[in-house]
Amino acid sequence: MMEYDFDLIVIGAGSGGVRAARVAAAHGANVAVAEEHRVGGTCVIRGCVPKKMLVYGSHFAEDVRDAAHYGWNLGETSFEWETLRDNINADVDRLEGLYTNTLDNNDVELFRERATISGPNKVMLQSGREVSSRYILVATGAWPMVPKVPGAELGITSNEVFYLEKLPRRVMIAGAGYIANEFAGIFHALGCHVTVVNRSDQILRGYDEQIRDRLLQISTQKGIEFIFNANFERIEKKDDETLRVHFDEHPGCDTDLLLFAIGRSPKIEGLGLEEAGVKIDDKGAIMVDADYRSSVPSIFAIGDVTNRVQLTPVAIREGQAFADAIFGNKPTRVDYATIPSAVFSSPPMAGVGFTEREAREQFGAVKIYTSDFRPMRNVLAGRQERSLYKLVVHAETDVVLGIHMISPDAPEILQAAAIAVKARLTKAQFDETIALHPSMAEELVLMR
Ligand code: NDP
Repeated sequence: MMEYDFDLIVIGAGSGGVRAARVAAAHGANVAVAEEHRVGGTCVIRGCVPKKMLVYGSHFAEDVRDAAHYGWNLGETSFEWETLRDNINADVDRLEGLYTNTLDNNDVELFRERATISGPNKVMLQSGREVSSRYILVATGAWPMVPKVPGAELGITSNEVFYLEKLPRRVMIAGAGYIANEFAGIFHALGCHVTVVNRSDQILRGYDEQIRDRLLQISTQKGIEFIFNANFERIEKKDDETLRVHFDEHPGCDTDLLLFAIGRSPKIEGLGLEEAGVKIDDKGAIMVDADYRSSVPSIFAIGDVTNRVQLTPVAIREGQAFADAIFGNKPTRVDYATIPSAVFSSPPMAGVGFTEREAREQFGAVKIYTSDFRPMRNVLAGRQERSLYKLVVHAETDVVLGIHMISPDAPEILQAAAIAVKARLTKAQFDETIALHPSMAEELVLMR
């Protein structure tokens, strides 16, 4: 039997890679991880975690305003971007430490350097050392896309947005997906003028239409501007440092910050995958089978680099399934049906299961139940903003096929409701459940 330096080398210490490494090591494998940036990956370092903290931080703008309606006289308030930014980044440092400890505690060797694949069982480290491994797991994630137009380098991506020196007066966001809508809410609440520019006439393609229409309506009412059917032509910097953005069929626009949020592509550049015989699809993603095995039997891939579902909890599940199957003698497959997801916009949206359109396409007749209400908190605060909950129900079996929501705390509520959808509960069972009053979540069991 051939001897290897390691049983497993994971390239990429993001959420998926760290889970795979830790679980493989716990099963007794001799594991190493190579990471060229920071331990924690996109989610912890420059994604979900600092973004959520920015969402919390920016929400105080509304809370402070609403507080007056609840009798609180807060006097003059002000906001300091530098404080929020630095506190967030300090906490990110703390979390990076915890992730690193997890690897240490499981005796996973950490190479803090870039690694490339130099053979089916070999990895070349930047320092020049080549190490061998029975298995290689590629968990390098994805990287923000930037349009190929002159001046694109004048814009930033979500990689840089957490480190802004100061808050810009005007922000233009390219794209109308997750990142665009989340940062539109954050920057708007913090006092910036926000313009969202998208190539199509839709926001958040894939989410239920009624729910995303509501977000568009609320965002527009708040003062966020949307430009649809616009393609970037070129960007230039003017003498006064502002950016002039030119579109194909729209008049140009000035902004102080341009944030590209037009999707993320698998991070495979220069990894040596193709040279090693690993098949890549036309989107640049590593092609894997149901057990995450690539076209080279010793090389596996999980998470965003496979471009299937670009969500942290999915990558974590995949890392766990991979490690359990290969090192724990516990073959497991991830169930990709009914994955709940949320957009931390303002207000947030959340959904699980079939949208109305998808359900109609697949099942024909479906029953739709909606609750369109003004949350009690908004009523007293004098806010007109309404919430919308929607159940998509199979017409014959009464099974709840999907739940879609836009409301304060929608992601918190949906996580529990997703259990019911996964368990294929019926609308009748929802109705049998006694309401928890007064709450917004009770709307889920009160729709008639
Ligand atoms: P999204 O895929 O969510 O949205 C991309 C947006 O950019 C869409 O509006 C799309 O337009 C547009 N677009 C796509 N390609 C191009 C292009 N070549 N040129 C111009 N515009 C383009 O991407 P994000 O960057 O917002 O986020 C990346 C991924 O990260 C998400 O898909 C999600 O999986 C994950 N993420 C998850 C979050 C969460 O769970 N809360 C938060 C942030 C990110 P259209 O579709 O209209 O054609």
